Amino acid sequence: MDPAKEEIVGSSDHDHDHDGPGPHGAPLTETQLRVKALESLLVDKGLVDPAALDALIDTYETQVGPHNGARVVARAWVNPAFKQRLLENASAAIAELGFAGRQGEDMVVIENTSKVHNLVVCTLCSCYPWPVLGLPPVWYKSAAYRSRAVFDPRGVLREFGLELPKHVEVRVWDSTAELRYLVLPERPAGTEGMSEEQLAALVTRNAMIGVARVPSPAKAARP
Ligand code: FE
Repeated sequence: MDPAKEEIVGSSDHDHDHDGPGPHGAPLTETQLRVKALESLLVDKGLVDPAALDALIDTYETQVGPHNGARVVARAWVNPAFKQRLLENASAAIAELGFAGRQGEDMVVIENTSKVHNLVVCTLCSCYPWPVLGLPPVWYKSAAYRSRAVFDPRGVLREFGLELPKHVEVRVWDSTAELRYLVLPERPAGTEGMSEEQLAALVTRNAMIGVARVPSPAKAARP
């Protein structure tokens, strides 16, 4: 800590903390504590190799995630032949970009248009295309989303901030252990001159689940 800051902290005679410890001293949640306890037990007993655990965590924290799906979407936007392959055999087309693996074996990509909006849910549990989207967000696994996405998809979309015009048909797709869906969102207006890489940066996880649209760059830049 720099001395100036130390001085400010030292000058306060507060001996308790209203807001909890700062980011460096944040207490662990019950789940985090349980995970740590489990991990050290498994390592102590020689049942898991900490290096293997680190590799797994790194995979899902940094390598696998929505940035992969965003690259698939951007490629489809700029390359009609790729898009056709993607809609015909998603797993194979996605593998062309090097994204494959567990929970991505049998993929189906569904395309949003001005007339049809697709929404993905797993009503049974939390089936989700890991290689292109990473691990599912907490809300995706919630009972509320899993049931309401089916009987009130427009209401769910409204809560995500997406009000669809009446003439747009909403289709809900139920991901399962056999098939996992990925939404190919509509390419937003105002992106005509953008490169594939720039386009990929616009694509969000929620747009690929179907609870959002990809915002046009003008809107995205607004504070
Ligand atoms: Fe599931």
